[in-house]
Amino acid sequence: MWLIWFVVGSCLGSFLNVCIYRLPRERSIVRPRSRCTSCEHPIAWYDNIPLLSFAALRGACRHCRHPISWRYPLVEALTGAATVAVLARFGVGPVGWVYVAFVAALITASFIDLEFQIIPDEISLGGLAVGLALSALIPALHGTASPLASLMRSAIGMLIGGGVLYGTGLIGDVIFRKESMGGGDIKLLAMAGAVLGWKLVLLTFFLAPVLALIPGLLVLLLKRSHLIPYGPFLSLGLSVSLFAGDDILRATGIEESVRLLWEYHPWFQ
Ligand SMILES: [Zn+2]
Repeated sequence: MWLIWFVVGSCLGSFLNVCIYRLPRERSIVRPRSRCTSCEHPIAWYDNIPLLSFAALRGACRHCRHPISWRYPLVEALTGAATVAVLARFGVGPVGWVYVAFVAALITASFIDLEFQIIPDEISLGGLAVGLALSALIPALHGTASPLASLMRSAIGMLIGGGVLYGTGLIGDVIFRKESMGGGDIKLLAMAGAVLGWKLVLLTFFLAPVLALIPGLLVLLLKRSHLIPYGPFLSLGLSVSLFAGDDILRATGIEESVRLLWEYHPWFQ
């Protein structure tokens, strides 16, 4: 059964590759059908099978032998593995499939950000609208049976997710005297908040800089640049939060501390 979910996931990854190529170039993701990016020859269905076609063609176009980017098989394998992992963890139900779509959005945003240093609004704002709507339709996403409570939690997650990065950006702008936080990152974390709720995006806010630290230092040393795309590290942090966030909050005592503070601190009485 897991092999089937891997195949389904890698086919989804094949579609994500189309989005990664076309969204930042502002082309339709529906039409025309896939073409070689070098000779423009349409790609036949048997040359478009996830992972297998790349191996059979030994990584080059059948017609012009132009090399096919390593990104294609990587995104297909990654999405296949992520689909299996998410469904194994959250079950093959509505909640599981929403998280598959969420991780697929993160993969797409990350690869576009790596190449173009942008996160398209179709993913962040589009995903935000879908996240709010799905929260009302599937209250189990926010651990409740009430659609209204779920929508409220989704909206609070959106505000906290977008708000913490926006606030950090304002402080950064004052310190560095130039734009320090990309609008795309703010919108991406707002979208994630609508899906995961405020606790997990707040955890991600603290996890992402830790994950970005070593790659950031490497870029600084090797490329003499202090600019790294932040989207992939937010996405990595969000994936960690999705799978282990509740355990991390519990094991570190953060959840308990916040609860005690909430209950006993005179400010909150
Ligand atoms: Zn070609």
